[in-house]
Amino acid sequence: MSEAVQKAIDEKFCSECGAIIKAKAEICPKCGVRQFGPPSNLGALAPNGKSKLAATLFAIFLGGFGIHKFYLGSIGWGIVYLLFCWTFVPAIIGFIEGILLLVMSESDFSRKYGST
Ligand SMILES: [Zn+2]
Repeated sequence: MSEAVQKAIDEKFCSECGAIIKAKAEICPKCGVRQFGPPSNLGALAPNGKSKLAATLFAIFLGGFGIHKFYLGSIGWGIVYLLFCWTFVPAIIGFIEGILLLVMSESDFSRKYGST
């Protein structure tokens, strides 16, 4: 009895009005609102120019030296990481922080680190 709304594989719901539109559509033909890109938009930058991808790579590969802390503006923590880099503990913490940055959404990253 109920008329279920079915969308094809190459279709998606509009992020604004919920209308079924083509998956590749950038602007909804129904309401004219621009669609958000895919969630794994690694190339995006926060309002202050910080890159989540860069921070993630710094944390994973150079986390032991606190490079990602310096990059994200936590200079004090960066120095702490640098002082204890010989213990390898910062490297492990940095790696975990890199994973957390990796799974963090762009909007969360911008909210947390993007402010100038
Ligand atoms: Zn729409």
